[in-house]
Amino acid sequence: LPCHDKMGVPICGACRRPIEGRVVNALGKQWHVEHFVCAKCEKPFLGHQHYERKGLAYCETHFNLLFGDVCHHCN
Ligand SMILES: [Zn+2]
Ligand SMILES: [Zn+2]
Ligand SMILES: [Zn+2]
Repeated sequence: LPCHDKMGVPICGACRRPIEGRVVNALGKQWHVEHFVCAKCEKPFLGHQHYERKGLAYCETHFNLLFGDVCHHCN
């Protein structure tokens, strides 16, 4: 196998395989678009907005569920 590191090919932080095509830069790593997923529901963001917290990425729904400080009375 060729050494992709030395060739400067980005390595996916999830599957550790070289990324060809579109790269997502997040959390200080690089990811396949389809492998950069919510830490809770594991759905890929596919370029949609994500929210980072303590080195993990979340979709808006789960970020709000886990960390949101929205008032339950008046939202
Ligand atoms: Zn991957
Ligand atoms: Zn989620
Ligand atoms: Zn309130």
